[in-house]
Amino acid sequence: MSSLSLPGIIDAHVHLREPGATYKEDVLSGTSAALAGGVIGVLDMPNNTPPIANGEAFSRKRILFQQKAVSDYGLFVGFDGRDIDSLVEVASQAVGLKLYLDETFGDMTTREPQALHRVFEAWPGPGPIAIHAESRSIPIALRLAQQHNQRLHVCHVPHPDDLLQIDAARQRGLRVTCEVTPHHLLLSDEAVARLGAYAYMKPPLACAADVALFWQKLPLVDIIASDHAPHTRVEKESATPPPGVPGLETTLPLLLRAVDEGRLTLERMIELTYHNPLRVYGLRPPQESDVEVEIGASYRLPREGYRTRCGWSPFAGEWAVGHVVRVRLRGRVVWEEGQVLAKPGDGQELRRIK
Ligand SMILES: [Zn+2]
Repeated sequence: MSSLSLPGIIDAHVHLREPGATYKEDVLSGTSAALAGGVIGVLDMPNNTPPIANGEAFSRKRILFQQKAVSDYGLFVGFDGRDIDSLVEVASQAVGLKLYLDETFGDMTTREPQALHRVFEAWPGPGPIAIHAESRSIPIALRLAQQHNQRLHVCHVPHPDDLLQIDAARQRGLRVTCEVTPHHLLLSDEAVARLGAYAYMKPPLACAADVALFWQKLPLVDIIASDHAPHTRVEKESATPPPGVPGLETTLPLLLRAVDEGRLTLERMIELTYHNPLRVYGLRPPQESDVEVEIGASYRLPREGYRTRCGWSPFAGEWAVGHVVRVRLRGRVVWEEGQVLAKPGDGQELRRIK
């Protein structure tokens, strides 16, 4: 048994479901799951009910996080195809603007070209425009980013070939970054056959050959983010299961397994999960913060015992390495041996680099 000190994970893509769907997650349960997974900061997406697509909804959600979060956080604002002026007003408080070019869970899809042009024109930053896009929509977003000189971040890249067009755009001088999820790197469509709706997500899992290509092209990737998107077992077992899987508590032990197997260096893992999320979103690292992990024999991830309210993981049974034993955030121990020691509201908004 040995112990390892890490800076912690900044998870740049989570859905903590509050407001709107607190029966499957809320700010407190979600940020507790974060600490359990060695995640010291989360960036939360705006596809809530109601959608976080105007100043009033954004301010209300921000108050919820101020009162309840136990990890640090940043919040995205989203575009619902309508209220651009109000987005511009909250731009300086948001970590970025999330645009849904293709359908997923929630109702924030914008495909109308005029609306897309208007929002790419109007977004003042300083955060990037982060997009949910299927492969066919990525060139549209790259063109818009070029035309309007915007910084673009491609969330959960759906296919390894997309990394090539993103990199080509970068070579042409576009300011574009991208992320992949642990499930696209570690599960294939074989999991869909095995787990059914519990492995249903958007973008869908790739075939084994494409998973191998994702690893090969990993040098082109900026961020690994969980896209933590919990749903209840009842929802997943219904006739119309929603897409999405939880991931906050499994990213670190799964990536440490990859490090153990020599597929990734520890240094590169830290870059993908900590330095680059901070860099892409222009955020300051929380001071005096670290995560202590006990490294022993590899083990299989459990079926139960997760902090996320949904209580399951698509990775149950997968091999993992390391247990988070202690999390220190801004000088205080906030998680130790299975207990959240922070109080609701101790989590702070990640601050922007001036
Ligand atoms: Zn997402």
